[in-house]
Amino acid sequence: MSDLLSLFPSGSRLDGDGTVVVGGCRADDLAAEFGTPVLVVAEQALRARAREYRDELAARRPGSRVVFASKAFPCTAVQRVMVEEGLGLDVAGGGEILTALKAGVDPGLIVLHGNAKSDEEIALAVEHGIGLVVVDNADDVDRLEATGRPQDVLVRIIPGVTADTHAHVLTGHAGSKFGLAPADAAALIRRIEHSPRLRMRGLHVHVGSQILDVEPFAESVAPIARLGEFEIYDLGGGLGARYTWADKPPSVASYLDALIGAAKQHLPASAQLIIEPGRSMVCTAATTIYRVTTVKRGAITFVAVDGGMGDNLEVALFEQRFEAGIVGRFDGPGLESVTVVGRHCESGDVLVDGVPLSEPAVGDLLAIPATGAYCYTMANNYNGNRRIPVVLANEGVPRLVVRRETWDDLMARDVD
Ligand SMILES: *Cc1c(COP(=O)(O)O)cnc(C)c1O
Repeated sequence: MSDLLSLFPSGSRLDGDGTVVVGGCRADDLAAEFGTPVLVVAEQALRARAREYRDELAARRPGSRVVFASKAFPCTAVQRVMVEEGLGLDVAGGGEILTALKAGVDPGLIVLHGNAKSDEEIALAVEHGIGLVVVDNADDVDRLEATGRPQDVLVRIIPGVTADTHAHVLTGHAGSKFGLAPADAAALIRRIEHSPRLRMRGLHVHVGSQILDVEPFAESVAPIARLGEFEIYDLGGGLGARYTWADKPPSVASYLDALIGAAKQHLPASAQLIIEPGRSMVCTAATTIYRVTTVKRGAITFVAVDGGMGDNLEVALFEQRFEAGIVGRFDGPGLESVTVVGRHCESGDVLVDGVPLSEPAVGDLLAIPATGAYCYTMANNYNGNRRIPVVLANEGVPRLVVRRETWDDLMARDVD
């Protein structure tokens, strides 16, 4: 077995008794204090990644901006860390605007996306002075004009680029529901340029997510360059993260070498560039700690835990591969290959299909690393599940930033 610890947030270590320590906090102490399952974010790992993005971009293109794609981990505490590290926030829905504002972001540094923005979301954005609204369709323009207020906008272009990732997270291919084909965009751009209220600031492009090579990013630049010269180019997010041994994502530096290199080749030298990393910003900064509920030995050994697709939909939606370890016994003894499953009423509720665990038994704690991206985001109440808490662990001090849902929370919405 390879070194499971290397998939945990940077700075994680094993204590003398083999217990994993994340953000300076022992996994067993976190489980005792906050219960299980619990999603633990290593604050220093998160900050280090934000700074890496910020500094690597500044080194290649001064005056450009990193905005964190909030949807990868849309809670105030995570957004606030990004704001404190000097980043803006990209949002894709009303609730993300509210947590972003609560996190203290300058509204001028918010970028709003969405292929089906509601009147309510447009109103919220315009009222709060959100910096850039990314127009995805002509109806967005109608809605923005109807507010009667001025607004800076970008137009989202389909670059016609594919990438080697799961089809469900491809967004830049011809036929994507996001954005406009260049020919269709041209007319809308002219309309915005003649709008009395809207200001046409630039273009946006986003190829997809969990992309593990740099070429698709570079390829996405030339198609937007043909639409004319603008002040701002938002080149999206999508860099892949390391979930498992096999993943070898490009470094932020090599990703930016390719992307900024293409921008230097095709886009005006004076243009401001924006990037919007989500997954690669947060994925490996967090880990989920579960408790083993049942071990069923047969043709397959199933290790069932007290969570599952209620707190991690990445497996069911994108067949994402994770790794796992029994807390205190990552390296054995008695490693056996098992399937880690959740507690939900779906055969697809598998967390890890085939992973070596050391003598799994009821009551053990099980840790799954690299759960920082989109797990909190897509948490749900399937089977009456109470959504799990988020704890920021910082130099040995854990801080509850999202509490566990209660039965009362669940019943409060059930108003019959
Ligand atoms: C989801 C999304 C991102 C972030 O993508 P990641 O793969 O999480 O980096 C950036 N921009 C837009 C428009 C998105 O929809």
